[in-house]
Amino acid sequence: MYGNGQAPIFILKEGTQRTRGRSAQSNNIAAAKAVADSVRSTLGPKGMDKMLVDSMGDVVITNDGATILKEMDIEHPAAKMIIEVAKTQEQHCYDGTTSAVVLSGELLKRSEDLIEQNVHPTVICEGFRLAAEKAIALLDSHGISTEGNDEVLLEVAKTALTGKSAGAVKAFMADICVRAVNAVGVVDEGERLVDLSDIKVEKRQGGSIKDSSLIDGILLDKERVHAGMPRSLNDASIALVNSAIEVKKTEVDAKIQITDPNQLASFLAEEENYIRGLVEKITASGANVLICQKGIDELAQHYLSKAGVFSIRRAKKSDMEALSKATGGRIVTNIDDLSDQDLGKAARVEERKIGESDMTFITGCPEAKSVSVLLRGGTEHVVDEIRRAFDDAVGVVSVAWEDGAVLTGGGSVLAALSRDLRTYAETIGGREQMAIEAFASALEIIPRTLAENAGLDPVTTIIALRKAHADGASHAGINVYEGGVVDMHASNVLEPLRVVEQAIQSATETAIMILRIDDVISSKGVSMDDGFGGEDGFQM
Ligand code: ADP
Ligand code: MG
Repeated sequence: MYGNGQAPIFILKEGTQRTRGRSAQSNNIAAAKAVADSVRSTLGPKGMDKMLVDSMGDVVITNDGATILKEMDIEHPAAKMIIEVAKTQEQHCYDGTTSAVVLSGELLKRSEDLIEQNVHPTVICEGFRLAAEKAIALLDSHGISTEGNDEVLLEVAKTALTGKSAGAVKAFMADICVRAVNAVGVVDEGERLVDLSDIKVEKRQGGSIKDSSLIDGILLDKERVHAGMPRSLNDASIALVNSAIEVKKTEVDAKIQITDPNQLASFLAEEENYIRGLVEKITASGANVLICQKGIDELAQHYLSKAGVFSIRRAKKSDMEALSKATGGRIVTNIDDLSDQDLGKAARVEERKIGESDMTFITGCPEAKSVSVLLRGGTEHVVDEIRRAFDDAVGVVSVAWEDGAVLTGGGSVLAALSRDLRTYAETIGGREQMAIEAFASALEIIPRTLAENAGLDPVTTIIALRKAHADGASHAGINVYEGGVVDMHASNVLEPLRVVEQAIQSATETAIMILRIDDVISSKGVSMDDGFGGEDGFQM
């Protein structure tokens, strides 16, 4: 009976499911590990691709960790937290998603062993926190400078492209990435910034990857408005206009009563004069190209075509802004104000048929601060995968350009950190030492998985790697092609420092968050993935 005879108090609704303590923990850890295991086999240049089929039967073939996790229908809340790791990694660094997920899975696996040895989760969390802090502090000492060094940037891009469909044309794609980033990167009061929205990507099915190109200007998914206009021209002076080239419509519905046929003729003549006037103002400014954000009516098209002005209508606002940045032109609203000062410059403007559609290439812009990239590939799946590979590669190049520092890959830096953290652990002592040592071992999951995926014996490879690092070879990493351990600097396997830093950071934070949960309460009948808690259920 209850001590004072009171009935038990129920604070949760009937039917609420609750798991607590060890079982809640091991359940969460198991779910998180399952997610990590699902992407492990894709890690590294020798990682395998996955084919994902969704409920509609659509197929995605990819090697990209973030894409895989995005496509998988995952319900378990702890598993979803691991997916958040991949998302954060993707948003901040464009790469390293698989590594971050695999690392958080391994941290949780190692903590399970510690929990079994009766180390309390809060002690594990504290040890992990100390270890991550130390590891991140040590990263800088491994950095290699990228400043003014295109070679390093090219190798970073190539490393990101290794093992992807675009891998076969690595040097070609890497060159596009580096030229694009170098074009749009700006240094603002000592801060180095790359705005990736200044690199506009258009993908078109057909042709081969090698038909892809960087346009030092803008590629518009538009054709000229009138066939009588020149298909191409050199020494373009470009007017950027964001008002319509057409007869102004009155705000209110107006009716004009015409009693005399002459009146009609003069009315039409006036409209014609107005349009002709607009076109004359455009040509008088010296423009031979007109990009209009609004409409160009038929009459205007006729006069523009007669004047030989290459014209495009209904350009997107974002394209107008990109054009302004690329050509140095100013976007003008009132055509009366248009002067030669406002015109953008490009060496060539040309309409070309790409795949099914006509596109306009505005190229040869001196000092273009906005560029376009056209990606080609034989089939839809190929172009899509090329696009993802390009996004990763241009992303890491931009990160490396901004940070000015890269690290050697192939598990080399993680192996070095693992070695240094073991030494550090000894200075801490107690149970936290055990957690720091577990963290140190967890970092080795990356080189170990690289070895496994390359078909190498993980045990002998890791032993060789540890020996190399014990001997001070701090660039020693996994040779996925020939086996054994090599100097990753000499092999030119380079990745941005931020990718590794973020992976360690978010993997640790998530592992800690999951470890701290010892009570999972879910109301009955709540589907954990629809985001709705039902009438009175609560959301997970
Ligand atoms: P992620 O999603 O984590 O970026 P990847 O499949 O791109 O996963 O693999 C990245 C890992 O592969 C990194 O640890 C990187 O250092 C390593 N790597 C890349 N190229 C090589 C190479 N040529 N040799 C050995 N390791 C490599
Ligand atoms: Mg990668």
